[in-house]
Amino acid sequence: MLRHGVIHRYRKFMPVSEATRVITLNEGSTPMVPAYNLSALIHPRLEIWLKYEGLNPTGSFKDRGMTVAITKAVEEGFQAVCCASTGNTSASAAAYAARAGIKCAVLIPEGKIALGKLSQAMIHGARVIQIKGNFDDALRLVRDVAEKYPIALVNSVNPYRIEGQKSGAFEIVDDFQGVAPDFQAMPVGNAGNITAYWKGYKEYKAAGMAENLPRMLGFQAAGAAPIVLGHPVENPQTFATAIRIGNPASWKSAETARDESGGVIGMVTDHQIREAYELLARSEGVFAEPASAASVAGVVKLAESGFFDDVRPIASDHIRLVCILTGHGLKDPDSAIRVAEEPITIEAREEDVLDAIGLAEPALA
Ligand SMILES: *Cc1c(COP(=O)(O)O)cnc(C)c1O
Repeated sequence: MLRHGVIHRYRKFMPVSEATRVITLNEGSTPMVPAYNLSALIHPRLEIWLKYEGLNPTGSFKDRGMTVAITKAVEEGFQAVCCASTGNTSASAAAYAARAGIKCAVLIPEGKIALGKLSQAMIHGARVIQIKGNFDDALRLVRDVAEKYPIALVNSVNPYRIEGQKSGAFEIVDDFQGVAPDFQAMPVGNAGNITAYWKGYKEYKAAGMAENLPRMLGFQAAGAAPIVLGHPVENPQTFATAIRIGNPASWKSAETARDESGGVIGMVTDHQIREAYELLARSEGVFAEPASAASVAGVVKLAESGFFDDVRPIASDHIRLVCILTGHGLKDPDSAIRVAEEPITIEAREEDVLDAIGLAEPALA
């Protein structure tokens, strides 16, 4: 299928007109990968699918929202955009702003963003500003600046971001021929994405495009779990830097998604995230960044607690569950290298190679 980008693909549901100049990098239409090995490992009745959002143009789902946010910023006459970011928003904003030919400024927490993401914002020509504070501080600052100056804020508090991101839900339903999965699992940081998916599912059902709605499962990192704890976290900590957020902007609507869908927002430890991160890469060949693995970690945790044991699935005898893998593993190569086994170094000799592979003593012929 030709990829046209989410505005063209779902035009009826997008806030654009015939006259709108669409800024796109052909985002969306990402693969849904059946996770046979993970399913078998996690629960006998689970049928897990991986929505591989790392295959968007800048390597994360942020592109779905950014195409709409930048398109509308240009339509409204803005010459510049800004955002606060844990990394992927800045990478996406920088790329789409470059494509549109407008300026972009990004505020990031100093030293806390993955190298791949930083490199993207830099190479696309954004003004990259590191602040001595966390994401929540950065968001507060850009909100103030955008209120006072002619610069468009493209964080997920920008409603156009949500409009674009809801296309992920449309694609999942389309892939299952008009049936939503029983569950959708995803990481929750600033909570824009869970808000967007739930909006998408509801709109699609209202339009007669989906028979049913899924139950929404959101997961925060234990060191950055304000929604689970019921209060903001002053100094959020987790190695899953994309969800290192202590006071989510879309807190209320995340709770609405959970409650209306009969879902759960839970938390997983960094240890559980790290295990899921490796499990995903080793058992399915799918490399997602640490925050993305929180969705798998959460599903493992729920399965172990017996959560799925009595579930009656909608479409088949298996419980269909889609994990949103929000960003590509290559965004954060440092984490992979830290978690996985180190390469070994040997002399350039055949016997050393055989020894290293474990073929050193073949049976005598
Ligand atoms: C932005 C991001 C998240 C969190 O999404 P929110 O909409 O802030 O909840 C999760 N994973 C990755 C890879 C991200 O870039």
